[in-house]
Amino acid sequence: MQLKAPRGTYDILPPESSKWQYIEGILKETAETFGYREIRTPIFEHTELFERGVGTSTDIVTKEMYTFKDKSLRSLTLRPENTASCARALIEHSIYSGIMPAKWYYIGPMFRYDRPQTGRYRQFHQFGVEAFGSNSPYLDAEVIILLIEVLKRLGLKEYELHINSVGCTQCRDVYRQKLIEHITPVKDRLCPDCQTRYQQNPLRVLDCKEKSCHQAIVNYPTLFQHLCSDCASHYDMVKEALKANSIDYRHDDNLVRGLDYYTNTAFEIHIPGIGAQSAVGGGGRYNGLVEDCGGPDLPGIGFAMGIERLLLAVNTLAAKGLDSGKSDVFITTMSDQYELQALELLTRLRQKNIRAEKDYMGRSGRAQMKYADKLGARMVIIIGDDEIQQGYFTLRDMQSKEQVQIDKKEIVESVKDRLAKFRGGNG
Ligand SMILES: [Zn+2]
Ligand SMILES: [Zn+2]
Repeated sequence: MQLKAPRGTYDILPPESSKWQYIEGILKETAETFGYREIRTPIFEHTELFERGVGTSTDIVTKEMYTFKDKSLRSLTLRPENTASCARALIEHSIYSGIMPAKWYYIGPMFRYDRPQTGRYRQFHQFGVEAFGSNSPYLDAEVIILLIEVLKRLGLKEYELHINSVGCTQCRDVYRQKLIEHITPVKDRLCPDCQTRYQQNPLRVLDCKEKSCHQAIVNYPTLFQHLCSDCASHYDMVKEALKANSIDYRHDDNLVRGLDYYTNTAFEIHIPGIGAQSAVGGGGRYNGLVEDCGGPDLPGIGFAMGIERLLLAVNTLAAKGLDSGKSDVFITTMSDQYELQALELLTRLRQKNIRAEKDYMGRSGRAQMKYADKLGARMVIIIGDDEIQQGYFTLRDMQSKEQVQIDKKEIVESVKDRLAKFRGGNG
């Protein structure tokens, strides 16, 4: 049997990998500019963390987790998202007793056992930020501004920012009751999952994936109409801050997050034209999460975006900034006996950060020149009998085809100077 990558996973090969490096570079740079530092958490955690930090009633936990027992029969799970892991790290290392807020970002693979489809994989990648320790609405705004800045820097102009407030536990208790009253008469039309959960958690019905559930509860009362005065003014301040930063948004009553630890601001970014599921990222406040994970009562806010979905959106992205993978210089040997000299020169060039390459397939001198062309080398250094006997190297410009003889001792500096000139000339 021919071995293949497991269903829902894939290889990122060059030159595709340069696109990833390019996007990841922009994500990191933007996050760092906003004062977020990188956190790297384990790929697997105790299953209990996600049960508490993602929620036992979510599809992620009930259907989509890669859970396994290790050799000591501990239940472990490949991380389906990273917010719970960040909360766990915050608690474990008592970060909250230091300088607040703690502002982190991450980039890495996540795992969900989902039906693979375009832009959706079982091992997929997310970029996200988390800020713990402050309940300021301006921090909510900062996180959203960061998300928009990322899109701008990636050259994405067509996006829609949806925002809503899901309130606090207080205003939600009132709302929950209203919602149960609205749902009860039509409960028979709900999907089996919602029928069992609507009494305990009616908000989960609002973000159910089944169409029939949405049709059944049409014209439901919105949470927005039931915000307490604190939550209403928090939301107003976020909107005011977005306006002050010239960020367009659309208030979206339907944007709800069904879990108890989500509070106040919720947001999503939609990019039209990348298929049915146009959301590339979203997030919000989760003031109850740290406590649910066993830590102190500490507010938090963050977002996550799918890098695969982002790639679909930026696929037309200008090649600008992408690593071409081209060589600067190629060393051609006219005889096997000069291989060692070639390798030694290669090392000296590379130590100066010059992308240098040689042949390893026993090609003829002519075939080596062709190969150099394929690698996109700007220059070729030729090592032959004359060169070795007289102590120089022949340097060939692959564009002008001009050849010059350069003293052995000056070759590295000479290549460096010429490259600097080429680069300067190309702007
Ligand atoms: Zn409230
Ligand atoms: Zn449902």
